Amino acid sequence: MRPLINELFFACCVLLFLSFFSYAQNDEYKSDRVAMVKLQIENRGIHDKSTLDAMIKVPRHKFVPSNLKSRAYEDGPLPIGYGQTISQPYIVAYMTEAIDPKPDYKVLEIGTGSGYQAAVLAEIVKEVYTIEIIPELYKQAKERLKKLGYKNVFCKNADGYYGWKEHAPYDAIIVTAAAEYIPPPLIEQLKDGGKMIIPVGSPYLNQNLVLVEKKNGEITTTSLLPVLFVPFKRAD
Ligand code: SAH
Repeated sequence: MRPLINELFFACCVLLFLSFFSYAQNDEYKSDRVAMVKLQIENRGIHDKSTLDAMIKVPRHKFVPSNLKSRAYEDGPLPIGYGQTISQPYIVAYMTEAIDPKPDYKVLEIGTGSGYQAAVLAEIVKEVYTIEIIPELYKQAKERLKKLGYKNVFCKNADGYYGWKEHAPYDAIIVTAAAEYIPPPLIEQLKDGGKMIIPVGSPYLNQNLVLVEKKNGEITTTSLLPVLFVPFKRAD
């Protein structure tokens, strides 16, 4: 009887060790993430608590190609393949705060890319609808978001110029590719009282993040920040 108890004890120790090890592994980048939020985001003036909490929660290293994992918390964009990028963390936080996200919001994102911005939004709002034009990126992001347990993100492979009419109107819209002008269907699908943030300008030059507000049917636009985004593509 005695050896069996010893064996059981040993097995329990191994299990405990393994579960502790996998917990530590899971949270391997937590301190990098906390530092990213403090130094790159809070210190530059982002104060919305829900945005800061979401950026601390979402594991950015799971949204970049595996060879770039160790660079996931750097202060800049990173390539995600197909000529596209995951935006700089500060810009993701800036755009999230700019739409003033609330728990009961339904948000439309154009340009799913890695799915990172969608995940940050999904931590705060009720539903996120996100559209990606490149089929491979759409598939990867959809899988990734499912694996990470995001049940309130809905993905679509299409040209986001036309928005996603079935679920309109949206409390807020985030566009993460630079358009030469604001697509009229997106303005139409924005709820009255809602906000849209969109980089507007020429491909690779002179772009500004523009805040679009709809009040009593009237549209106002405010230029907020010079930026550099990948171009808004159009389906052939
Ligand atoms: N939000 C992304 C960043 C994506 S970069 C992230 O968090 O990772 C911009 C993305 O917009 C690219 O993946 C690009 O393919 C996509 N895109 C460009 N034009 C588009 C369009 N008309 N409709 C939908 N997606 C578009």
